[in-house]
Amino acid sequence: MPSYDFICLDCRKRFEVSLSYSEYDSAVIRCQHCGSSNIRRKIGRIRIARNASDRMQSLADPTRLNSIDDDPQALGAMMRQMRSELGEEMPAEFDEVVDRLDHGQSPEQIDSAMPDLADNFSEGAGNSSVADDLDF
Ligand SMILES: [Zn+2]
Repeated sequence: MPSYDFICLDCRKRFEVSLSYSEYDSAVIRCQHCGSSNIRRKIGRIRIARNASDRMQSLADPTRLNSIDDDPQALGAMMRQMRSELGEEMPAEFDEVVDRLDHGQSPEQIDSAMPDLADNFSEGAGNSSVADDLDF
């Protein structure tokens, strides 16, 4: 039975629930810490990002990669291209990050505006920069 990570939007704690696929659609998930149903599923963004960056290495233009660090719009465009190349469903946060990059926000600004995202991106990676964790 697959298990899913959730985060409670009320107490900000994480918990894990094991559900069959049929249960997943109908189950009412409640926070195991405070009982709130104001919860959100967490998706393994690191896994998605690593998987994506592996495949991007054959797609990416190295000259564009060099400017990514200083150019949020270029990073946003690349992430969007990455998603269309992969044809995989990305979490809602992915869209928000791309959106913010489009508006010229740096990965650092996005990190501080989306603390939950930063928390995820930094898992096991030792820093919280979106660009660094994407391994560009
Ligand atoms: Zn809770």
